[in-house]
Amino acid sequence: MASERFQALIDNSSDVISLVNAEGQVLYANASTAKVLGYHPEELLGSNGLELLHPQDRDNSVRTIRKVMEVPQSQNRMQARVRQKNGQWLWVESTACNLLDEPGVGAILLNYREIAARKAEEEERHRLTEELTRHNVELQAFAHTVAHDLSEPLRTISGFTELLVRNANLGAEDKELAQFIVQGVRRMSSQLNNLLASATTRFVDSLRPVDLEHAVVQAIQNLNESLTSSAAVVNVESLPTVQGNELDLIRVFQNLISNAVKYRGRTPAVIRISAELAGPDWIIRVRDNGIGISKENHRRVFGLFTRLHNMEVEGSGLGLAVCKRIVEGLGGTIWVESEPGLGSTFSFILAAEPLKISR
Ligand code: ADP
Repeated sequence: MASERFQALIDNSSDVISLVNAEGQVLYANASTAKVLGYHPEELLGSNGLELLHPQDRDNSVRTIRKVMEVPQSQNRMQARVRQKNGQWLWVESTACNLLDEPGVGAILLNYREIAARKAEEEERHRLTEELTRHNVELQAFAHTVAHDLSEPLRTISGFTELLVRNANLGAEDKELAQFIVQGVRRMSSQLNNLLASATTRFVDSLRPVDLEHAVVQAIQNLNESLTSSAAVVNVESLPTVQGNELDLIRVFQNLISNAVKYRGRTPAVIRISAELAGPDWIIRVRDNGIGISKENHRRVFGLFTRLHNMEVEGSGLGLAVCKRIVEGLGGTIWVESEPGLGSTFSFILAAEPLKISR
């Protein structure tokens, strides 16, 4: 009675269940074999199960079965394409269980089910990821070329306009107009530099230990003129060494400090730069006492060409987008906490340990 129940269970299982001997010969196949693969169970008896496998999946399956055969009662999983009776290939996932020393069985139990839908999804996901990576690379190369190629004519315009001002007998008004041209070209050139920075691909190989205190000093030196003329104060607390690219991290600090100066309130900017260890990461904070940013713009400010405040302040709307790109390229995140009139704190996370980044 019990054995009839078991037989009914096996016959009605939606999985294909079969027994093969150590040579791979099929000893038994259940009724589902006909539904899933199209073969009558009797047709398969005595045949070599491996011959039904796709040639590309055979070696892997043989390896898995050999491993299972080494240890009695052990089991292992594999995925393979099996030829159906109609000649089509069907992806199946199979579990092989070594019951060779089991009295009354003396075989390897193979249990497999169809996974065509799962495989199709996996393949589609893989295809989309590859396509996205290719598009990204193309887009970066395109932005890089455009920014690079446009810089050259800009240098020519500004060089010749400056020559004109120096050599020609221009009146005061014409000189002023020429000066506007030079200023406009400088602004555009700075925008292109930012665009170029945001399009540059960085590779994991270029990561080095970067002393953030040193990076901040460099950023402050680069901003010396605007910091001095606006009487800004920068307080730098003890900062760690992290894995990164020094020029990139200098740029992050430079953009954040220069924003703190540009978007200061009525009093001179007071900027505090600090670091806090949070588990395996460092949180770096750049706090200012400036005009602040309303909550609905906290995410927006990191977008390309986003500018919130008056256009009299010089800017491209790219500075924070570049910071975001650099920090995210290092596997971190960047965000702002701020309220209008109460200053802003820009924080970003960098890993304390060497990063493992997959691109
Ligand atoms: P840019 O300064 O060139 O306009 P950013 O991408 O650096 O571009 O900043 C985007 C916008 O976010 C700025 O135009 C400004 O409105 C706002 N912003 C950035 N930093 C601050 C800050 N520290 N305080 C207040 N507003 C800021």
